[in-house]
Amino acid sequence: MKSQGIKINIQENVPLSPLTTFKIGGPARFFVEVSSEEELIEALQYARNNDLRFFILGGGSNVLVNDAGFDGLVIRIRCIEFYVDVEKNKIKVGAGVSLAKVVKDSIANNFTGMEWAAGIPGTIGGAIRGNARAFGKNTGMTIESVSAFDINEMKEYVYANEECQFEYFGSVFKLKPNLIILSAVIKLEKGDKDKSWNEAMDIIKKRNVIHPQESSPGSFFLNPVVADEKLRMRFEKDTGNALRDEKIPAGWLIEEAGLKGKKMGGVMVSEKHANFVVNLGAGTAQDVMMLASLIKMKVRNEFGVQLKEEIQYVGF
Ligand SMILES: Cc1cc2nc3c(=O)[nH]c(=O)nc-3n(C[C@H](O)[C@H](O)[C@H](O)COP(=O)(O)OP(=O)(O)OC[C@H]3O[C@@H](n4cnc5c(N)ncnc54)[C@H](O)[C@@H]3O)c2cc1C
Repeated sequence: MKSQGIKINIQENVPLSPLTTFKIGGPARFFVEVSSEEELIEALQYARNNDLRFFILGGGSNVLVNDAGFDGLVIRIRCIEFYVDVEKNKIKVGAGVSLAKVVKDSIANNFTGMEWAAGIPGTIGGAIRGNARAFGKNTGMTIESVSAFDINEMKEYVYANEECQFEYFGSVFKLKPNLIILSAVIKLEKGDKDKSWNEAMDIIKKRNVIHPQESSPGSFFLNPVVADEKLRMRFEKDTGNALRDEKIPAGWLIEEAGLKGKKMGGVMVSEKHANFVVNLGAGTAQDVMMLASLIKMKVRNEFGVQLKEEIQYVGF
């Protein structure tokens, strides 16, 4: 099949696992990288004309791709423009810019406000959609506005922060898959380069201690809100930590269910952090699905809590 346009390069049978941090999964039947709204429109038209499903891929750091791959068009967002407005303490970034670059370059420009995100992989587009968070801060806190392409209307709209509906690991862009994030304006404050840099480095060091280093998609499950008062008290007593936002960490529930270190084929519940399912090298999506089912069943049986995935399944 040929693209109707001239700019985009549609490839066939492109392996997806190297484009994910989990390093699992089969190929995309069709694959394209887009770096502008025009290219995105062309890719969407190609999918429409050829009756293909499509999937938007950012940095691939929160996805599990099926072993059979994705039988449609994977559109990888590579919009990477980056403008700094020093006067107004703002940066405008393309959705394909890595979060790492946002952190590094905002600090380099003497801004403070993004240090918390140091060490989180992926793109700013993915971070906005899922309202990526760490250490009590989240992406929505610094977003002034988001430009997104609405595929139902084939038109770009600008969403002010309050219209983005940022919530726990969510936003309007997650609720409405017809919205594809193109760029964002991030509002920061004047800071001190050295102080921010030290803060970011400390966070990276902390993350390296807490998080496993093997291939993974980050935290696998969302932290659930638990109504059971006895369980809440048990968590607080055992860990010495107060509940955050009424939620019990999924990792604690998985550990208490005795699943730390549990292996299934080539994947394992990390010994370091029980909410991380890690790829031991030859893990398959089927291994992951079986392990995820086991985790959900055990946690449900043991605590009456239903875990839900934070990661996104692709091609299932
Ligand atoms: C080691 C490790 C540590 C992590 N630590 C954290 C952490 O501390 N906090 C945290 O929140 N997350 C963490 N994550 C998860 C992950 O990094 C974040 O969720 C990240 O924001 C995902 O961005 P991405 O670009 O990789 O998205 P992808 O994985 O490519 O995609 C995730 C979802 O977003 C959608 N998407 C991506 N780009 C766009 C776009 N432009 N428009 C619309 N939809 C889009 C995709 O369709 C998909 O549904 C971690 C992951 C790893 C591997």
